[in-house]
Amino acid sequence: MRVRQTPVLLLLMTCLLPARAEWHHREAAIMGTRIAVELWADDPATGERAVDAVLAEMRRVDALMSHYKPESQLSQINLRAAEEPVKVDAELAQLIVRAGRLSEMTGGAFDITYASVGHLYDYRAHTRPTDEQVAAGLGAIDWRHVVVDPEASTVRFSRQGVRIDLGGIAKGYAVDRAIALVGEMGIRHASVTAGGDSRIVGDRFGRPWIVGIRHPDDPGRVIARIPMVDASISTSGDYERYFDEGGERYHHIIDPKTGKSAGELRSVTIIGPDATTTDGLSTSVFVMGPERGLELVERLGNVDAVIVRRDGKVLYSSGLEAP
Ligand code: ADP
Ligand code: MG
Repeated sequence: MRVRQTPVLLLLMTCLLPARAEWHHREAAIMGTRIAVELWADDPATGERAVDAVLAEMRRVDALMSHYKPESQLSQINLRAAEEPVKVDAELAQLIVRAGRLSEMTGGAFDITYASVGHLYDYRAHTRPTDEQVAAGLGAIDWRHVVVDPEASTVRFSRQGVRIDLGGIAKGYAVDRAIALVGEMGIRHASVTAGGDSRIVGDRFGRPWIVGIRHPDDPGRVIARIPMVDASISTSGDYERYFDEGGERYHHIIDPKTGKSAGELRSVTIIGPDATTTDGLSTSVFVMGPERGLELVERLGNVDAVIVRRDGKVLYSSGLEAP
């Protein structure tokens, strides 16, 4: 049902409805991040089943694509694909193809083979590769080293030393999958969040959902509030996984050209049609920097951006009005 009433009226109506339509809300820690689900269902059992389905789907995608789990298909690719084609689920092969398209579109700013050097960073342990190690690994960074055979559903690497990581796109993908599942269950109002990636379906009591973009240095401060209906939003920041050393910030968004943390921006938020797109693009624009990044956003046309520069200045794409 579409909700167009005021909250008071709605409350009255829900009292009269025998089926007890209501909001369902749950949070969990999956994929190394905070998952939050909020959805409206016409009856409580459907609502709870839908929330369960979202969390189960997140766990399924994580088990398939996590680089932390040695038994995941992604880890199997990293282990064996330089030797032989590795058979994977069609879904994973397709996401790797999609990542490759994003690499092309962004001139290589987005590149899942960044991990050939990226895996040498440990943000928790505050360790990073030496300049020599970075230089030695750079040759293995190039998405064209990853060869997918969609028919056979296999992935292989064209040279040694290549590693891939889907951390820049997998959470958005999992959110999209979860939203598709609840849609099949008849849910028409929902918000699913995985870390910095959210997708919204429908409205909330007849009004847009409001998603806040946090200040890079203060999780309690909001720099912009974005009204959202049937859209996705992703933020990439230098404050998620990082350590500071000698006045430099070493964080988890790596410029594939240098093998080092991308330094021009503090955060990038992308608003767009689906979360796989916004997740991939927020990481990409972060690497591309403000000029090339905004140029891409304007060229694509179906996405918007809020960019926080290193000096604190906030830039908006033309589809958003500066407050
Ligand atoms: P999060 O939501 O985890 O903060 P982001 O969307 O900001 O993630 O993407 C950061 C993640 O993307 C990193 O943790 C890493 O797994 C991956 N990544 C880092 N640099 C790149 C890159 N240049 N291209 C593709 N993926 C990247
Ligand atoms: Mg991303």
